[in-house]
Amino acid sequence: MQLRILGCSGGIGGTLQTTSMLLDRDILIDAGTGVTHLTLSELEQIDHVFLTHSHLDHVAALPLIVDTVGPIRERPLNVHCLRQVKESLQEHIFNWKIWPDFGQIPSKEEPLLLWHSVEVGDTVDVDGRKVTVLPANHTVPAVGYWLNSGSASLVFTGDTTSNDALWEVVNKIADLRYLIIETAFPNTERELAIQSKHLCPSLLADELGKLKVQAQVFVTHLKPGAGTQTMGEIEEDASKFCPRMLANGQVFRF
Ligand SMILES: [Zn+2]
Ligand SMILES: [Zn+2]
Repeated sequence: MQLRILGCSGGIGGTLQTTSMLLDRDILIDAGTGVTHLTLSELEQIDHVFLTHSHLDHVAALPLIVDTVGPIRERPLNVHCLRQVKESLQEHIFNWKIWPDFGQIPSKEEPLLLWHSVEVGDTVDVDGRKVTVLPANHTVPAVGYWLNSGSASLVFTGDTTSNDALWEVVNKIADLRYLIIETAFPNTERELAIQSKHLCPSLLADELGKLKVQAQVFVTHLKPGAGTQTMGEIEEDASKFCPRMLANGQVFRF
């Protein structure tokens, strides 16, 4: 199983793209602007999209993907997310005003976009690759994902602030190899991080202190323009966990 990072920034500009990761060739984890790195042929091969939450930086490319490849694919695009996320996207994006409702095109019975509701604790088995829904603590209903190949695991927190429920699950993953965790703001914006339910380096250190299993830690969702400052603060606050900055194009094999 391999996970390719398409976008891992909190914003755009230059090479920065928002959250999206490609698992093997056919599964997308979040559909932020990083998706624009993919060729038409690569887009066409995506059968499943797992969304962490409804915020635009994680779903921006979804309406364009289904419009672009829907008509040339022979199967629907399966979108997995919390019921509340589906409802938000249906109400505010796929509402015939911002974008057509591809859940009804060409017909309700055989749509180009097929919604699948998931809940925390659910595991979706895609040809032996297990995607388990993890709890997250964000301003809107949100989750993280635990990807298990059968021999090793990778956990992606999604957007979250402090969340003991996450570590209860993660600490039971014996084959955990990689942890991708967000840190959206520098310490100077700690209050904003708390209000917007994200992490800053001091909060990240507190969270990593709850991790009881060994893992290589990668930091994602850094705010554009504050990346160097934030990584410097992480170096001070959380150096014992050796966190590294996640990079576009990075590939994890597990
Ligand atoms: Zn968010
Ligand atoms: Zn985000």
